[in-house]
Amino acid sequence: MSETIESLKCLIIGSGPAGYTAAIYAARANMNPVLYQGTQPGGQLTTTNEVENFPGYPEGVTGPEMMLELKAQAERFGSDVRDGWITKVDFSGDIHKVWVNGTKEIHCETVIISTGASAKYLGLESEQKYLKLGGGVSACAVCDGFFYRNQEVVIVGAGDSACEEAHYLSKLCSKVTMLVRRDVFRASKIMANRVINTENIDIMFNTETVEVIGDGQLVTGVKVRNNKTGSEVDIEATGFFVAIGHKPNTDIFKDFLKLDETGYIINEPGTSKTNIPGVFVSGDAADHVYRQAVTAAGTGCMAALDAERYLAAKEV
Ligand code: NDP
Repeated sequence: MSETIESLKCLIIGSGPAGYTAAIYAARANMNPVLYQGTQPGGQLTTTNEVENFPGYPEGVTGPEMMLELKAQAERFGSDVRDGWITKVDFSGDIHKVWVNGTKEIHCETVIISTGASAKYLGLESEQKYLKLGGGVSACAVCDGFFYRNQEVVIVGAGDSACEEAHYLSKLCSKVTMLVRRDVFRASKIMANRVINTENIDIMFNTETVEVIGDGQLVTGVKVRNNKTGSEVDIEATGFFVAIGHKPNTDIFKDFLKLDETGYIINEPGTSKTNIPGVFVSGDAADHVYRQAVTAAGTGCMAALDAERYLAAKEV
């Protein structure tokens, strides 16, 4: 039997900088927000090592530490932060219905979506096999790098994430081989230079992964191909890290909200409004351009203010 239906003024889905900032603003506006944390409490930043570019932290701060502070700040004003995963929504009526963990039903006057994005994988069979086995494939160097101390690892990707993670791994591992599919980095100059100038990072340009090699349980290497010459080589490695970008976590909204071709929620320009009145979006779920903690926080603030104005207009 399902539990009693709960009614809320403001539900926030997701616990990254966007969600917590929305919670801070919504709580201070007496909207009694409830925030569901999802499966990765704290969001992507909990997998980031040092955050050096969030204003107000001149010495930098670790991602997990910053998220704990944001959570505490949201709770200080009365936000109700809960464990739970939103599994289904129904935005077809005036009251927005949401289900938690497939059972608990909540009726919301406003919903703020801050579900962020998730790491992408190459999709190779061997990659998925060792990922599922927990045998040496990871999309989070900060989470898993520790397990590969003094070992040789491979990382694929050429963006800021890949550079940040390769650099992080270089401090733990004896050697990091970085696979870049084009002959240039996508990453910013400063991040790319950090990698280029690190002695134990070996960069292979124009190189793609053919397969992850293993003994059936654990990764032992990676077969790669130079896409200019076609030559293949096996690299010895016990860890295979994937850092090739992210996919927005918006699947459960696709029947109700307008999404772009990659799944990012389309918001009304300059606002957090979606195509459904009372449903707002903030953070990476709608942002494939900036994707920064500080921009996510900014749009979280916008979503709470937009939700507050929406509620105020309904009361008149
Ligand atoms: P990006 O989308 O910027 O980069 C993804 C990288 O993965 C690209 O180099 C891309 O190659 C490569 N790639 C994608 N698919 C494949 C594939 N199938 N095989 C091999 N390589 C592949 O994602 P990031 O996660 O790096 O960054 C996302 C955003 O977050 C960016 O705006 C970035 O600036 C920001 N960021 C900022 C940080 C900071 O400032 N501290 C840290 C981390 C991220 P190609 O270049 O050929 O397309």
